Amino acid sequence: MNYRMYDLIEKKKHGQALTEDEIREMITAYTAGEIPDYQISAFLMAVWFQGMTDEETAALTLAMADSGDQLDLSVIPGTKLDKHSTGGIGDKTTLVVTPVLAALGVYTAKMSGRGLGFTGGTVDKLESIPGLRSELTEEEFLRIVQEVGFVDAAQTKDLAPADKLLYALRDVTATVDSIPLIASSIMSKKLAAGADKIVLDVKCGSGAFMRDKDSAKALADQMIRIGTLTGRQVVAVLSDMNEPLGYAVGNTLEVQEAVEVLKGGGESRLLQLCTALAVEMLQLSDRARATREEAEAAVREVIASGAALDRLKRFVTATGGDASALDRTKSDAAYCETFTAAKEGYLTCRDAAEVGLISTSLGAGRNKKGDSIDFEAGILFRKKPGEHVTAGEVIAELYTERQEVIPQAKRRLEAVYAISAEKPEERPVIYEILR
Ligand code: URA
Repeated sequence: MNYRMYDLIEKKKHGQALTEDEIREMITAYTAGEIPDYQISAFLMAVWFQGMTDEETAALTLAMADSGDQLDLSVIPGTKLDKHSTGGIGDKTTLVVTPVLAALGVYTAKMSGRGLGFTGGTVDKLESIPGLRSELTEEEFLRIVQEVGFVDAAQTKDLAPADKLLYALRDVTATVDSIPLIASSIMSKKLAAGADKIVLDVKCGSGAFMRDKDSAKALADQMIRIGTLTGRQVVAVLSDMNEPLGYAVGNTLEVQEAVEVLKGGGESRLLQLCTALAVEMLQLSDRARATREEAEAAVREVIASGAALDRLKRFVTATGGDASALDRTKSDAAYCETFTAAKEGYLTCRDAAEVGLISTSLGAGRNKKGDSIDFEAGILFRKKPGEHVTAGEVIAELYTERQEVIPQAKRRLEAVYAISAEKPEERPVIYEILR
C-alpha cells in the first residue's frame, strides 16, 4: 500500500479523519494479508475511542463491500429489496415477510446467517424443514428468486471477506461495540449482496446488541446515512427486544409460529412487527401503494387469501424441502416439560438474551461455530410478559433431547421470569420508524 499503517493509526489516534483512499488501501492490503493483525487491532481501538466521520464510515463500508464477490441481481426485474435484523430471540419475521412480499409481486433475494450464542439465525430455522437446502449455488439462488419471488439462503459467495476478518479481530479485542464499526459491517454485507433498498430491523433491549433505545437509534441513523452516501435507500424500524418475539424460541417451533402468522393467526407483537416490516418494504418497492393503510390492507389480503403461505410452500419445494412439514404443529423432541408459575401475579421478562441461552442449552442453538443443533429443541411460551398468571399455571413448555438439562433450564427461567403483584408497564414492539 502507498501509506504506512503506523501513520494511519497515529492519525486516527489523534481523532483525525482518514481519506477515502487511505481507508480503501488499508482494507485492500489487510484482506490480502499484507497488514498484521496487531496494527489493525490498534487501528480498531483508535476508532473505538475516536469514532469516524460519516464519510469515513461510508468509505469503510464500500471498501469492505468491494473486498470480495458481489452478487449481481440484475436478472430480477425492478427494485431489489433486502431486509436485515440486527439479531434477537424468537425473530422469525423473515419467514413471514419475504413470502408476503413475493405474493405482492416484490422480489427479495436474501442471504441469511446461522445462529450463534443467544441469537437465532434464519438459515437454521429453514434447515429444520426436512430436505430443505440452504447452501445453494448462485444459479439456484437466482433461479429460485425468479420462480418463487423470493429466496432466502446461506451466503453463496465470499461476500465482504474484509468484514469477516475485521469482525473476528473485533471479537477478541473488545472493539465490537462501536457504532461506525457495526454499521459499516452490516451495510458492507448488504451492499455486496446487491440490494438497492434495505429495510433494517434494529433491535434494542436486553436481547439485543443495543441495550437502549438511544444507542439503537444512533446505529440506525448511522446506517441510514451510509445508505444516503452510497446511493441506497434505507429505512430502519426500531423494535423492542426486551422479551422473545412471539411465543416460540427454537427452530422447528419458530417455523411453525411463522406458518401460523401466514395462516392469519399469530401473537400480536409478532404480527405487528411482521406487518410493519412488510409495509415498509412494499412502500420502497415498485409496487408501493398510495398510502401506508392501503399497503397494510394489501399485506393482510395476501395472508388471508393464503397466497403468502403458498409462496413459502413453493420456496420450500424449490429448495428440496418437504412442504408438508409446514403443516406440523408441534415439536417431536423426546422430552417436553412444563415450566409453571410459582405464584400468582404478572409476568416480567428480565433478560431476553438469557432466554436465548436457555434455549441453546436445550439444544436449539450453538455455543461455538460448527456445533450441531437440535431442530426440535426450544421453548414454547404459553404466557407473555405483562400477562397475569395463577400459581401452577403453565408459562412455557421446554422441548429437548437432553433430559438432564431440564432442571437447570427451569431454574434459569425462574430467575428470568419475575412474577409481581403490579402489572408492568406495556412496552410497544415498535418504538420508531426512521425513514
Ligand atoms: N452484526 C454484524 O454483521 N456486524 C457487527 O459488527 C455487529 C452485528
